[in-house]
Formats: sequence, C-alpha cells, structure tokens
Amino acid sequence: MPTTVSAATISPSVITDTPQMATLRAEVRDFLTEEIAAGAFRPTPDSWLSRWDEDFSRKLAARGWLGMTIPTEYGGHGRTFLERFVVTEELLAVGAPVAAHWIADRQIAPSLLRFGTEEQKQAFLPRIAAGDMYWGIGMSEPDSGSDLASVRTRGVPVEGGWRVTGTKVWTSGAHEADAFFALARTAPLDPQHRHQGLSQFIVDLHSEGVEIRPIVSMNGEHHFNEVHLNEVFIPDNRVLGEIGSGWTGVTSELAYERSGPERYLSTFPVYAGLLDQARAERASVDSRLGATAGRLFGLHQMSRAVAGALERHEQADVAASVVKVLGTLTEGDIAEDAHLATIPGRDDEFDQLVHLALSHRPGFTLRGGTVEVLRGVIARGLGLR
Ligand SMILES: Cc1cc2nc3c(=O)[nH]c(=O)nc-3n(C[C@H](O)[C@H](O)[C@H](O)COP(=O)(O)OP(=O)(O)OC[C@H]3O[C@@H](n4cnc5c(N)ncnc54)[C@H](O)[C@@H]3O)c2cc1C
Repeated sequence: MPTTVSAATISPSVITDTPQMATLRAEVRDFLTEEIAAGAFRPTPDSWLSRWDEDFSRKLAARGWLGMTIPTEYGGHGRTFLERFVVTEELLAVGAPVAAHWIADRQIAPSLLRFGTEEQKQAFLPRIAAGDMYWGIGMSEPDSGSDLASVRTRGVPVEGGWRVTGTKVWTSGAHEADAFFALARTAPLDPQHRHQGLSQFIVDLHSEGVEIRPIVSMNGEHHFNEVHLNEVFIPDNRVLGEIGSGWTGVTSELAYERSGPERYLSTFPVYAGLLDQARAERASVDSRLGATAGRLFGLHQMSRAVAGALERHEQADVAASVVKVLGTLTEGDIAEDAHLATIPGRDDEFDQLVHLALSHRPGFTLRGGTVEVLRGVIARGLGLR
C-alpha cells in the first residue's frame, strides 16, 4: 500500500457550521422563501446549468452573494469558501435560476486570482462580483472531451498578440455569456509530453471571428453551443497565465468545478417534491427515500470538507472526484426514482419537474469529467494505477 494515502485523500477533515454560517444559511433561506412567494422563480432541476436569469444574479450580487471569495480590493467580499458553500447549497436546494453567474463565480474568478495579471484582475473580478459579466468554459472540442490534451484549436503568434482558430463544443451558455477561457495548442504536439504546449486565452465572445451556433437538446432547450473561432485576434494582455502553461490552468479549474453542491443537488427540487407527495398521500415511506437522504447527507459533509480544504489551500482533486462520482450518480437516481412515482397520463407540476430532471440526467455523469474517467483519477490518487 502506498504510504501517502490517508483517509483525508478521499475526504478532508470536516468542519461543522459556525454560528456565522448558520446565520448566513438562515438569511439565504429567508430571501429565497420571499422570492418564491413573490413568483420571482419556480424551483427547477438543473437550474445551475439551464436557468439563466441576469436580474436574479444581480439581486444576489446586491446582497454580497456573488464573488464571495474574491478579495475586497477586487470588488468581492473576502469571505470563505465555506460561506460560499452555504450560499450555493441553499440556492441549489430550491432550484434557483443561477446559471448566468455560475461558471464565473465558481471557476473563472478563482482562476483569474491565481493566474491572471493585475490588469486582468482589475478588469474582470469587480464585474463578476457585481453580476455584470458572465462567462462560459471553452475546453471541449468535437474530438476532445475526456482527453483534453488532444485539443486542435490553435493559437498562432502575430504582431501584438495571437490568432486563435478552432471549434469548441458543448459550450454551455456561450450564446448569452460575455467571454470564456479557450484552451488552445500554441506549440506543436510532442507525443511524449502531450500536456505541454497548451495555453489559455481570454476570449471576448463578441469579438470579430467568433461564431456561435446553437445545439438544441432532445427536450427542445437551448443551452449548449458550438463556438467557432475563425482567426480571432487575442491581444497579448488577454493570455491567461504563461504561454505553454494551459494544462496547469485547466486542471486547477477542474478542482473547483468538480466538488461543489451542484454535483449532488441538481435534482433536489424533485426529491423535495417526492417527500411532499409521500407526506400528502400518507404513503408508507419508501425505503429508497430514506436511503437517498442518507446519501445526500454524506455528500453534503464530503463536499463541505472539500470547501474547507480549498480554504486551507490543500490539494483536493481526489476528494473532489469522489464527490462528483458519488454525487452525480445520486442526483441521477433521484430523477429515476421520481420517474417511477409519476402516473402515466398525469401531467401535473411535479410530473413536469420529473420529466425535465430525467431529460437532463444523461449530462450529470458526463459534464466536468465522466464517471469512468474520474474513477481513473481516484485510482491514481490512491496509488492503484
Ligand atoms: C450538460 C453538459 C454541459 C457541458 N458543458 C460544457 C462547457 O460549458 N464547456 C466545455 O468545454 N465542455 C462542456 N461539456 C462537455 C464535457 O466536458 C464532455 O462531454 C466530457 O468531458 C466528456 O467528453 P466527450 O463528450 O468528448 O466524451 P468522450 O471523452 O469521447 O467519452 C466517451 C465515453 O468514453 C469514456 N471514456 C473516455 N476516455 C476514457 C478512459 N480513459 N477510460 C475509461 N472510459 C473513458 C467516457 O467515460 C464516456 O463514457 C458539457 C457536457 C455536458 C453533458
């Protein structure tokens, strides 16, 4: 057995809610209860990916609940990852429309803080915290998903910057976002060192040469896109980090992307509906409902533990992968259990939620790294491969 592996590799030490966190949780709950009562939104599954509502994002910003972990000198609130965890968990539990700011708040801001120049931080972080600038993720390509190092988008040096050409795919929200980080190859592929020669560019999605084509999902929704970059000019001051260090950038982004409560709460409004239904019908409680409560509670503890590890600047990629594998399977199971509880021919509000959750279900275990690939990451972290 490798000696470096400990229980903390899979789940870092758990911290319980402080009184401040409990107060914050209550404040967020009160706000959300009022918003739902006022008809500001209807709880929806997978709202963090598909419910884009800039007014709602700005309401959160006005309360200091966007850019919480951004330092105050960049327009943020200098709060902890654990406090952000409390806010995001409450938003997801009621399926609030948070897609507009989700990617910017979750991974773009921490990446800019870690790799951005002072000018980039000043230019973008205050706008992210204000809910005034929205971002996408430009990693995947038609032939590069799990194997991201095979991206074919290319950056070629020109006077004053770079010309970037290639196609990104499955780009959530690109048709509404202002910008994304595009991963591109800036040096020829060396088969022995495939992770070298990659760079990240900050691409203004309104630039000349950017063409965004919709991909319509099987349920008729449009949140995915193909983004074609046709010799888009990127000035030198819009390179993120060093040229050639793109792999370090994307892997660090993925640690933020994989461990949050959105990896187990995407279908929580459906689970809440199942509980309501069981109560209303006074049905004998299905043991699956109890088992799911246990899974969700464990995931809550594990995900919160990762937020604590991020706060302490500890390595948490294996623990984040564990949360993502177990969490996305759980949220998918909720959709399927709920589907079994629907009555053919009935089409009430609950059934509509369930059908929506079920149509989103295939994406849960794919986006942000597939279950199979993450099991490989976990095995490597445990010294098994
Ligand atoms: C809802 C949703 C939103 C998304 N949003 C974005 C976005 O905004 N931006 C973005 O860049 N991308 C986005 N993606 C793309 C996502 O990151 C990719 O779908 C994912 O990385 C998998 O890549 P792929 O689809 O090319 O599948 P592939 O990598 O081709 O995988 C196909 C199958 O092979 C398996 N497989 C592949 N390699 C291995 C291996 N080494 N070992 C075992 N099994 C393997 C996979 O598990 C999978 O089952 C999104 C995807 C979804 C579903």
